Amino acid sequence: MEEQGYFYRDTWAEIDLDCIAENVTSVKRQLPQGVDVIAVVKANAYGHGDIQVAETALASGAAYLAVAFMDEAIALRNKGIKAPILVLGASRPEDVKVAAEFTITLTIFQKEWLKKAQEYLLTDERVSLHIKVDTGMGRLGVRSSEELKAVEQMILADERFQLEGIYTHFATADALDDTYFRQQLALFETIISALTKRPKYVHSSNSAAAIRFPKAYFNAVRLGIAMYGLTPSIEMEKEIPFQLREAFSLQSRLVHVKKLQKGDKVSYGATYESDQEEWIGTIPIGYADGWIRKLQGQELLVGGKRSTIVGRICMDQCMVRLPSYMPIGTKVTLIGRQEDQFISVNEIAAKLETINYEVPCIITNRVPRLYKKGGKIVDIKNYLLNN
Ligand SMILES: *Cc1c(COP(=O)(O)O)cnc(C)c1O
Repeated sequence: MEEQGYFYRDTWAEIDLDCIAENVTSVKRQLPQGVDVIAVVKANAYGHGDIQVAETALASGAAYLAVAFMDEAIALRNKGIKAPILVLGASRPEDVKVAAEFTITLTIFQKEWLKKAQEYLLTDERVSLHIKVDTGMGRLGVRSSEELKAVEQMILADERFQLEGIYTHFATADALDDTYFRQQLALFETIISALTKRPKYVHSSNSAAAIRFPKAYFNAVRLGIAMYGLTPSIEMEKEIPFQLREAFSLQSRLVHVKKLQKGDKVSYGATYESDQEEWIGTIPIGYADGWIRKLQGQELLVGGKRSTIVGRICMDQCMVRLPSYMPIGTKVTLIGRQEDQFISVNEIAAKLETINYEVPCIITNRVPRLYKKGGKIVDIKNYLLNN
């Protein structure tokens, strides 16, 4: 089984980098000249793989990268990424030297932070900053023109601080009712009008806003979920003027197949009982891979047909009721396409009663990631063996 490369278990996630490239291109095509794409690759690129997604996004025209924490930015620098990287979350002022050293842009929103950071920077050190404005997300940011002015003044008074951007984040850009979105946008405009000088980057849009609201473009958009080919929300599905292509799929293989007689039981608790003669397959994926117990009863694809997971999902394995006998090694698709059947990330999210964002994120690092471009494998990442 050549396509497996450097991993020794028959379970892997497949990331189609052509989909990532196409999604970035589709969004970029919608944007006017002068509006940059900031590719959001936090959380290991939503579970897809930080470096592979970052490189693909940059090659497709993204100008900037964004992550949640400094550690994620440093990881990208260590893997050779030279493009600018913005940390969206809070960083400690004590760590400002590290940000300066790695040329990492930080998000700030507190005077006290700047004061503390001044103690840690040498006179010739420089750190690039974006100010975060809280216009209604209630998470991070200055909340008034007065607070903003105070922060701006402190930055302008110290040449070690370089004010490169200002931004806010929408709480409801993916909801059909745009009332709250419009309030946030108006408040952002009001608050930033207090600036003495607009920095190079002003940005507010996540994927949902980048797709729906040209008024909120300013001069950059922060593209996350749509880059991965997923819709920001179910209700937005019909509002997307181009096709998004899901990059993530999840694959396994049958490692054992047996015929059960009526009355035979399956898995912990012996809760599943055959009511007739039937074929049961075992696949090597379980809750420790993020394929959690709540997915009992979920369908998957085998031999181009839908089959059902039966019995409790174990830590490392689960069992599936097969439509007929199938040989060991038969490919099983838990997320993705087989022939005319497709199990979307949204289908799994619905079963888990959550949002699609969560699904690739919770597939753990025990599952190797295999990368495809032009239908060919271009990279395999096995986090366990560090290759
Ligand atoms: C995660 C995040 C984004 C990306 O949002 P999507 O809905 O995935 O496009 C943008 N901005 C901030 C501040 C974020 O934390």
